[in-house]
Amino acid sequence: MDIKTRFAPSPTGFLHIGSVRTALYSWLFAKRYNGSFILRIEDTDIIRSDKNYIENILDTLHWLGITWDEGPYFQSERLEVYRNKINELLDLGHAYRCYCSTHRLKKLRLQQMIAGDKPRYDRKCRDHTYSMRKSSYVIRFKNPLHGKVIFHDQIRGKIIFKNSELDDLIIQRRNGMPTYNFCVVIDDLDMNITDVIRGEDHINNTPRQINILQALNVKIPNYAHVSMVINDDKSNFSKRDNSLNVLEYKKRGFLCQAVLNYLIKLGWSHKDQEIFNVYEMKELFSLRAISKSPSTFNVKKLLWYNQYYLNKLSINDSLINQFIEHLKSFNIYCTDNVYLFKIINFMRSRCNTLQDLVLQSRFFFEPVNNVDMQLVRKYLFDQSYYILKYTYYKLQNLNIWDTMNITTLLKYVAKKFSVLLKNICMPLRIAITGSDISPNVSAIMEIFGKENTLHRLKKYYHFLKKCSL
Ligand SMILES: [Zn+2]
Repeated sequence: MDIKTRFAPSPTGFLHIGSVRTALYSWLFAKRYNGSFILRIEDTDIIRSDKNYIENILDTLHWLGITWDEGPYFQSERLEVYRNKINELLDLGHAYRCYCSTHRLKKLRLQQMIAGDKPRYDRKCRDHTYSMRKSSYVIRFKNPLHGKVIFHDQIRGKIIFKNSELDDLIIQRRNGMPTYNFCVVIDDLDMNITDVIRGEDHINNTPRQINILQALNVKIPNYAHVSMVINDDKSNFSKRDNSLNVLEYKKRGFLCQAVLNYLIKLGWSHKDQEIFNVYEMKELFSLRAISKSPSTFNVKKLLWYNQYYLNKLSINDSLINQFIEHLKSFNIYCTDNVYLFKIINFMRSRCNTLQDLVLQSRFFFEPVNNVDMQLVRKYLFDQSYYILKYTYYKLQNLNIWDTMNITTLLKYVAKKFSVLLKNICMPLRIAITGSDISPNVSAIMEIFGKENTLHRLKKYYHFLKKCSL
């Protein structure tokens, strides 16, 4: 039988790091064995489900290139399927209507808690055959009373639950809606899922789900429960914490390749290898190599991966377009791909993210408006004005405008006025970039172009003259 896995998020919050990692593992496992991967949106919780979150799920997976072969299926569109299965279980005698009032159930729960017992339904209606047509009811699954549920988790090994510890699960609520645990079972069955890979918070649901499948006399899928991702400060991630919204990282200038690589390594390893492209991931991924312990989310490590990919990727249209998008978010509009190529190529080794790249290369796009007087004074030297003006005219006559020729010229000027080269370069850097921190100023001038450079230089020495500096 071909491998078939699924990712089944509930659209009740932004897709966060841990969930996306589960999706990635599930996807890779299917791809590793030439199987298929489906996407299912578990939206039966009508009140908490939100279409913005559905959009967030689809956009996140799309950004990361986690493609689904089927779906997205929506549970809210499959209510008829669940109802039919519930009727089947009722007919088979594996489910029953429970007419107990919420008042009775609350009281029962309270009594059990006072007595120090684990709260659970006392199965009052389990063996009754009467029907109280006018009363409201829930439908419960008739969990076996004895024996054990044993399953071999692909990550954790053998897991055993005693049936005596399991309740008679509600599979249909008073309002007629099927419950989460039930829909999951029926969907996995209906969609021929062979391997259920999900978060370890679902371990306790597994024996209940297996019992339902056994009642229906169908094959039980393989299960793999992936450990949690915890925050640096050891707290659990909250679903509504936007700092963990994976798409937030896209906005902050992270690259999908870096996020994918970081996610696969977050709890999975292959020898000492740190860098994996998607092809290698599909070749090498295995459930056995997944760690049983929780993984800690570390943004510094993610930044490390991002810097690696930002510097390693070829500067193609895709990278340039992403840079353009980030520039736009700072109200910088540039479509000169040749110019952008040069800037990325020159600046990227100093940057972690695309956002960082924008911040550090703003001067290539925006005029230097507010001159920092402290900086101006810091690098002021005798005859500043005259030397800059002289440099300006020499640059104006430079025929071949490249880094080497500009540097040779600046060295010549320094020698002529008997000053250090840095005494020439610093004022130039401030004139062009507005800052005293930047890469090689000759290289900046080459990229910036002759006309633009001369324009800023002229503006600067006029400024010095005006201030009588
Ligand atoms: Zn009852």
